[in-house]
Amino acid sequence: MDTKAFKRSLNSSENYHRKGFGHEAEVSGQMQSEYQSNLIQQIRENNYVLKRGEVTIRLAEAFGFCWGVERAVAMAYETRQHFPTERIWITNEIIHNPSVNQRLRDMQVNFIPVEQGIKDFSGIDQGDVVILPAFGASVQEMQLLNDKSCTIVDTTCPWVSKVWNTVEKHKKNRYTSIIHGKHNHEETVATSSFAGTYLIVLNLAEAQYVADYILQGGDRQEFMAKFSRACSQGFDPDRDLQQVGIANQTTMLKGETEQIGKLFERTMMQRYGPDQLNQHFLSFNTICDATQERQDAMFQLVEEKLDLMVVIGGYNSSNTTHLQEIAIERGIPSYHIDSGDRLGPGNRVEHKPLHSELEVQENWLPEGPIVVGITSGASTPDKVVATVIEKIFELKGAVAIA
Ligand code: SF4
Repeated sequence: MDTKAFKRSLNSSENYHRKGFGHEAEVSGQMQSEYQSNLIQQIRENNYVLKRGEVTIRLAEAFGFCWGVERAVAMAYETRQHFPTERIWITNEIIHNPSVNQRLRDMQVNFIPVEQGIKDFSGIDQGDVVILPAFGASVQEMQLLNDKSCTIVDTTCPWVSKVWNTVEKHKKNRYTSIIHGKHNHEETVATSSFAGTYLIVLNLAEAQYVADYILQGGDRQEFMAKFSRACSQGFDPDRDLQQVGIANQTTMLKGETEQIGKLFERTMMQRYGPDQLNQHFLSFNTICDATQERQDAMFQLVEEKLDLMVVIGGYNSSNTTHLQEIAIERGIPSYHIDSGDRLGPGNRVEHKPLHSELEVQENWLPEGPIVVGITSGASTPDKVVATVIEKIFELKGAVAIA
């Protein structure tokens, strides 16, 4: 499919909307009361610190809802207002936050059912309204919805669209897109649908494996087994790694994306010589500012003397997991939870250790004075963070001073 031509024709269709519908004022009031918190505002104004009793809370200086998420949720709310009687669907979670998704369900926004990993679009009829979430949708899904004459409300974050434009450029110039991301993450699925030839690498170790293959060759079968679910159809490592361009899932660790870019730049220089680099390597900066700011704030926070860290965000949220990684690398006990409901009863937490299943830990808050670092992923409303902080105070018997 000529994805660029399709996107162009979709952009000019009257059934396709990439902006709100003029209900900003009402929606902003509604979102403020549902998602904002006075406590968090107070902590922000107090230099991101709040002390009560034996507990000192240190908040990261950038955390929570990013611009793209706020925009997507506001557009979804506006869509409900603008189409009060139409059936509304969303192709995926709008963002990776259970409470926000539940709120949309309460507003009668239907989620496309998924059967054994495959989405079932059969319930969608002509005239239905379909929202595409902040991390986008694959071009095949967009085409299907367009063919069904649905009204499409596209909340894809412009930072994500920027990555799509990047892989389109790779494709046009016949470069293979090397995408730093998770092959099954919705955003990377969408990005790869716009790419021509592509290979998805999860981390620096996988990137190094590919770089070694470029320089020394290797076991083709092993290569294909390793990347079987992370490359374009018909991918051939011996043919398709001669010209490469870098792209990324916007929420990966910024430092790692940069290292991967540098690794391939060096590799192509070594393989083809510095004067041929531009014919074999392309790179554009597609790291989103919000991801960068949250990670930078986390690096700053872990320099403080913290007894423990609480990282709040959806369990399938990639940017939240990366924040957690930063704390763990510094050897700080870190608890990833998705809401205040994971705390208690008593001094107990149900949390998700990195790369493993949920686990319950008793006596997680140490006795005596403690300093707790707090951050949250880009999909987490301030209200959820405030609930967690209040519960920590409660557990430690710290009473609010009026
Ligand atoms: S994290 Fe960045 S790319 Fe993702 S929605 Fe927020 S602003 Fe957009």
